[in-house]
Amino acid sequence: ENTLLEVQDLKVHFGGKKLFRKAQIVHAVDGVSFSVPKGQTLGIVGESGSGKTTTALAVLRLVPITAGTIRIGDVEISSLEKEDLREARRKVQMVFQDPYSSLDPRRRVGDIVREPLDLMNIGEEEDRDQMVHDLFVQVGLRPELASLFPHQFSGGQRQRIGLARALATKPELIVCDEPVSALDVAVQAQILNLMRKLQEDLGLTYLFISHDLGVVQHLCDHVAVMYLGQIVEQADRISLFSNPQHPYTKALLAAVPKARPRDGTEKRVPLTGDPPSPINLPTGCRFAGRCPVAIEKCHSIAPALKDRGNGHLASCHLLD
Ligand code: SF4
Repeated sequence: ENTLLEVQDLKVHFGGKKLFRKAQIVHAVDGVSFSVPKGQTLGIVGESGSGKTTTALAVLRLVPITAGTIRIGDVEISSLEKEDLREARRKVQMVFQDPYSSLDPRRRVGDIVREPLDLMNIGEEEDRDQMVHDLFVQVGLRPELASLFPHQFSGGQRQRIGLARALATKPELIVCDEPVSALDVAVQAQILNLMRKLQEDLGLTYLFISHDLGVVQHLCDHVAVMYLGQIVEQADRISLFSNPQHPYTKALLAAVPKARPRDGTEKRVPLTGDPPSPINLPTGCRFAGRCPVAIEKCHSIAPALKDRGNGHLASCHLLD
């Protein structure tokens, strides 16, 4: 398979602020590795504080990387600076949860979509109006709407505008941070369908960040489940949803009504409490404090992320 995005042992640690004379370091992302084949979608799922958004920001080089490497195509972007980084960034675009806050309210949407073309000097100037026209058509918006302002659009239409702007630079990778979470369920389906069609037409690769396994199930080829800065389970979509291995994934799935195992044999695992602070990390398994099936050694020894068959990775002592 042709890998487009490869992340190896990524660490993003913040802080070092001194509290009580001890430096506090937040292990936001703590040794994460994954790869995404070209034209496919990897979903990264977790609660807030799991490190999923920080992982996305690191791929966009929007937070400082503490350790590890990130490669997009043949370019190792984790070590690039200034001009080279700007050039490489053209290949990666981001789509946000709330397109409204990312669209300048004083500008006409046609200008918003056109801006990256002007900034990055893409195409001939006289062709850019046509390019904007084509981008509108591509995301299912009537091109006449280009002269309106963002507030004149619905949430779903604004997400289409966000997609048109992201597509303007002809990216290979689109990082989507909860792109449909703010939308009604019916509109969610429309945007997910549009994203799938754009992927097929343009060969796009997506990194799809979400707290919602139900949404991830609709679009992703592979899924990584993150807990407190680490991947605890990673598999192709079918394997993850039909045969979840990690107690945390099982708990998340139990909260998604339609995704429960068909035979109904699986016991619901209630997920209570909040994840511990990423500052004072537990020594053993990071999920031990909330895990309904924890055993003694979970509290002292951290389990390793291992292949449980056919590339289905999971970290849990009970599987060893
Ligand atoms: Fe639960 Fe222990 Fe497995 Fe961690 S290692 S998920 S605490 S059983």
